[in-house]
This record gives sequence, C-alpha cells and structure tokens, in this order.
Amino acid sequence: MRTRYDLHTHSNYSDGVLAPGALVRLAGERGVGVLALTDHDTVAGLEEAGTMAREIGITFINGVEISVNWNNRVLHIVGLNVDPHDRRLLAGLQINIDQRYTRAEMMYRRFRKLGVSILEEVEGRVGKSAPTRTHFARALVEIGAVKDVKQAFKRYLGHGKPGYVSAAWTPLQDAVTWIRNAGGNAVLAHPHVYGFTRTRLRSVVQSFVEAGGEAIEVVTGNSTAAQTRDMVLLAEEYGLCGSVGSDFHTPENHWAMVGRCAALPASLEPVWGRWS
Ligand code: AMP
Ligand code: MN
Ligand code: MN
Ligand code: MN
Repeated sequence: MRTRYDLHTHSNYSDGVLAPGALVRLAGERGVGVLALTDHDTVAGLEEAGTMAREIGITFINGVEISVNWNNRVLHIVGLNVDPHDRRLLAGLQINIDQRYTRAEMMYRRFRKLGVSILEEVEGRVGKSAPTRTHFARALVEIGAVKDVKQAFKRYLGHGKPGYVSAAWTPLQDAVTWIRNAGGNAVLAHPHVYGFTRTRLRSVVQSFVEAGGEAIEVVTGNSTAAQTRDMVLLAEEYGLCGSVGSDFHTPENHWAMVGRCAALPASLEPVWGRWS
C-alpha cells in the first residue's frame, strides 16, 4: 500500500483546534504515514508534534505556512523540512507575528465601530498562537453575529468586507529565502484558492520560481480533480515538484480532514523525493 502523505495541517498553535499531539494521533489513526505540521507563521508547535509522532511511529516533517505579500496580494508559502531553530527563520516569522497583533488591534477597532464587541471572545480563543482571521470568525459565531465561519468570512472578514484589514506581510522573496536557508523546500500553497486568472497565476509562479520556490501544492483537501489537473500542468510548465496536503484545521470540516487528500499524480516529482 502506498504511504499516505499529508504535508499541510494546522494545530492550536495557529488557527487549528487540536493540540499538536492530538493532531498527530488523529493523523496516525487515519492512516497518515508522513505528516507535516504547518502552522501560520510559527514553528512553536513542532516539538510537541514531533515527540508524539516518534511515540506512535509515524514520520514527522517540520513545517510552517508563511503569509507573504506579492504585488499587493496575499499568498501562502509552505516551508517543509525546515530547521525550527534556524535564527533567520525565527526572526523572519516574528515580523509576521508582530503584524498579526498590530492587525488584530485595528480589527478590534473596526468591529467596535461596527457595533460588534468581540475582543474578549477573540482573545479567549487565541491561546498559544497569534491572532488569525479564523479566531475572529469563530468569535463572531460564538456571539451569534453569524451562523458559521463561512458566513463570517462572507459578511465581515473576507477581502474588501467591513472587518477586513490588510497586513504588511513579509515579501515573497524573503519567505522563500528563509525557508531555503533553514534547509527546507518552499511550496506554493493551495494555488486555486487565490481566485487568480490563469495569466496572473503564471505570473505568481514565475516570481515564486525566481525566488527559489521548488514545489506547488497540487492536491489540497477541497480541490477538485479538474483543479488538480490544472495545477499539475502549471507545475510541469515551470519544472516544479508537487506536494499534497489537506489544510486541516478542525475535524468539523469533513472536506479538509487530516489525511484526506488524493495521491500525487505520478507524472510529477514529489517534493519528498528531495528528502532522501
Ligand atoms: P489570516 O492569515 O489571519 O488572514 O487568516 C487566514 C486564514 O483564514 C486561512 O488560513 C483560513 O484558515 C481562513 N480562511 C480564509 N478565508 C476563509 C473562508 N472563506 N472560509 C473559512 N476560512 C477562511
Ligand atoms: Mn488557516
Ligand atoms: Mn493557507
Ligand atoms: Mn493552511
């Protein structure tokens, strides 16, 4: 049987709901043989996850998902197999973490103006991590302002909506450089979710390759077979490897359950081929 890979997941060190150890246990139960934890802008959960992975006997990959700015748009770059103690990586991630706190302050002010008081509900949920929009979304559900997280993004938190505040994330080039200097591989995360035209997507991939990016996530939890085919073509055109990941946040989202991702199409070199 083929080894099941899931190289994109979140714990409660960012906007996931499970502690790293619980995430690893669940992944093991669901037949994942190689798992990466890729929290937003932090590597703080990796040690706990790695310890649990050794205990239950699955392979664990140190990862991170970095928010970056590219031509005034936000992209997510996953770093796989990074050294979590690398000084430059840690200093770089801190730039984004600081942005998260600054942006959250601005968002609290924005919501206060909208007559929605959620500071306590958000802060109560952040716990071990820096604030993300997901924490705001869950807080909005908690106070009954919206019926679910999806609606929270649609009404308040999505790009251009009343609660949306942009952040000065680190430039694409810098994030890729930190990942590579920390011994890792840079992966362009979930390319189909940005809503870009084909032309713009090619321009993103061009910049990503020039920055030193090595792989595209061609299979994610909610991508369709057609989207995967498109992304495989894109990867082939630019000579990039492929990666797979569920983008797991919570067991409530059955479409993005940990380990629930299709196999990487055989025509692409897997990013993990670079690790042996
Ligand atoms: P942030 O990095 O704080 O701006 O938050 C981005 C996170 O919000 C993503 O990683 C997703 O987990 C979540 N997110 C973004 N858009 C949506 C959406 N439409 N529905 C649900 N979650 C979303
Ligand atoms: Mn997230
Ligand atoms: Mn992402
Ligand atoms: Mn993610």
